[in-house]
Amino acid sequence: MHAGDVAITEVGPRDGLQNTGSFMPTAAKKAWISAEAAAGVRSIEVCSFVPAKLIPQFVDAEEVLAHANSVTGLTPVVLVPNVKGCERALAAGARRVMVPISVSEAHSMSNVRKTTAQAIEDFARMTDLVRAQAKAQRAQLVGACSTAFGCSLQGAVAEADVVRVALALRAAGADAISLADTVGYANPEQVKRLFRAVRKAIGENFPIEAHFHNTRGLGLANALAAYEVGVRHFDSTLGGLGGCPFAPGASGNVVTEDLVFMFESMGVNTGIDLGKLIAVRQTAFAALPEAELYGHIAKAGLPKGFQPRLHAA
Ligand code: ZN
Repeated sequence: MHAGDVAITEVGPRDGLQNTGSFMPTAAKKAWISAEAAAGVRSIEVCSFVPAKLIPQFVDAEEVLAHANSVTGLTPVVLVPNVKGCERALAAGARRVMVPISVSEAHSMSNVRKTTAQAIEDFARMTDLVRAQAKAQRAQLVGACSTAFGCSLQGAVAEADVVRVALALRAAGADAISLADTVGYANPEQVKRLFRAVRKAIGENFPIEAHFHNTRGLGLANALAAYEVGVRHFDSTLGGLGGCPFAPGASGNVVTEDLVFMFESMGVNTGIDLGKLIAVRQTAFAALPEAELYGHIAKAGLPKGFQPRLHAA
C-alpha cells in the first residue's frame, strides 16, 4: 500500500440494516457482501451480535459471518455491544470485532445501561477473551469512541473526554481506535481538531479509523478533513443506507460510492472498482424496495473521461 492509499469499510450490512425497518433476507445479505467484495471492497462490517429480540435484523448473524468468512480477500468486521456478544462473535469465527463505547454518559446509559467507565471495563474483559485465543486465529478488537463529536441526548461532548476514552481503550488492549460521529453532528474543523488531539495522545502510528454519518450533509466534507490530518481508514454505506433513529427522514451514513469517487478523482487509490460498486446497488437493494437510497455519483453518472486511480501505479 503506498502513502496515498485509503481503506474503506462498507458498514451497510450492519449500520445500514440496523436502522432499516424491514428484514433483509439472509440470502440477499450474502449476495450483497459477495458483490461488494467482487467490486474490490476488502473490509465489510457484516452484522451485529446483539440479541435478536432487541434487533431482529441480526437473527442470522452467525450464518452471515460464516458466509463472509468464506469470501476470498475479504476481512469481515462484526459489531458487539457487550461481553456476551463478543463471546458469541468469537465462537462464530469473528476475525475483527468492533466495540462501540459511548463517550457520552447519557448515550452509554441509554444504549447499554452502563456508564462509560463500566463499558471500558467490559472492553478489557473482551481483550482477555481475545488474548485467550490461539495466536494464529486471534481476533482484532477495534475500540470505537461513539458520540465522539456530539450526542443527541447530552449535546456537546468534551474533546478531553474523547481523548481519555481513546487512551483507556488503547491501554485496555485495543488493536485500533475509531472515532464515530454517531448522530451526524461533526463539522470539518472539529474533525481535524479531534483527530489531531487523539492521534497525539495514542500515537501517530497507532491505527485510527473514521466513521461519519451524513445526517446534516457534512459527511464527505468530514471525511476529507480527516484525510487531510492523516486518517486513512473510513466507514461508509452503499447507497448511504441507514437513517438516524433520532432524526426521522434524515440521511444515513456517508455514501460509499460518493466516498470512492471523491478519493479516486483526487488520485487516491481505494482499490475499489467504482462502476462495479455502483452496479451493486441494484442487486443489494432489490430485497429492500422501501429503503431510501442516497448518493450523487450513482444518479449523475461518472464524468466523461473519468480515470479511476484503480489501475494506475
Ligand atoms: Zn454509525
